[in-house]
Amino acid sequence: MTGLSRRGFSLGLPALAAAGAGLASAGLAQPPAAAGRSADQPPLAQLRIGRFKVTALSDGYVDMPYEYFPGRPATEIEALAKAQFSARPGGIRMMFNQYLIEDGSSRILIDAGPGGTIGQSGKLPAGLEALGLDRGRIDAVIVTHMHQDHIGGLVAGEQANFAKAEIYVDRRELAHWTNPATRSASPAYLQNGIKLAGEVARLYPKLQAIDGEREIVPGVSIVDLSGHTPGHIGVRIADAGQSLIMAGDMLFPVVHPAGLDVNFLFEQDRPAAQAMRTRFFQRAAGEGAIIAATHMPFPGLGRVVAEQGQYRWLPAAWAFQG
Ligand SMILES: [Zn+2]
Repeated sequence: MTGLSRRGFSLGLPALAAAGAGLASAGLAQPPAAAGRSADQPPLAQLRIGRFKVTALSDGYVDMPYEYFPGRPATEIEALAKAQFSARPGGIRMMFNQYLIEDGSSRILIDAGPGGTIGQSGKLPAGLEALGLDRGRIDAVIVTHMHQDHIGGLVAGEQANFAKAEIYVDRRELAHWTNPATRSASPAYLQNGIKLAGEVARLYPKLQAIDGEREIVPGVSIVDLSGHTPGHIGVRIADAGQSLIMAGDMLFPVVHPAGLDVNFLFEQDRPAAQAMRTRFFQRAAGEGAIIAATHMPFPGLGRVVAEQGQYRWLPAAWAFQG
């Protein structure tokens, strides 16, 4: 690409804050790296919701085979991915996005990523480091649900990685994944997550099992999004007339929000997952709130819009918002 030279950037074009994201795959020149950052570092994106600073972090990604999206034949899922220019040799690329909420006095992280246990992951600590933070400075972690790709980063080698943090998990979720009956009834691909859920329960004395849509700190509250798992929750951040809903696994790339009939393989109660998506997408489209979603393309921020009888994901502008 010769038209977009380094000189172009010096003529006032905005540099990308998300390091290297998108440019390399589009075959464009890389912008000059900001001091102290390189293209190898995980991307960061920040936006303000009233008094809150919300930072999207990425633990990494994995490519999911087309067979992992039951409800439609794999060939149809592949065709959808191709139509959206999202087909990879290994399937659909799924991000592992986490979100840090700061209000000047507390730091709350939503989810911890797989922490190196799945795909190309384990980058969350480097992302926090780029913000001048280590895991010991996180006050609380809200766990949207106890699948491996959301709790793997909480523990390593019989140690709690976020030593100081209170952990918030829905009571139904904790009960499900720590119940021996779940382990014996679950397929092999869920066993790692079940083992991790037990470790999280054991290694975090400050773990709190929570009920219903309670407030964690003023302006940060739990939203019941059960269906993907028995105690799957979201987090609403609201201040000064602005709001964001971190919706965990309500959306998977390529197939959602349009494919209300498409599940993710790990969903044990598929009708419940579909019913919650149907309700949630309707509400999200009606409210117009910004949604943050774990597995959507980084930074996973967007809105659900209704268009000609179908839902569509509309990525949100996040940089230079005043
Ligand atoms: Zn997930």
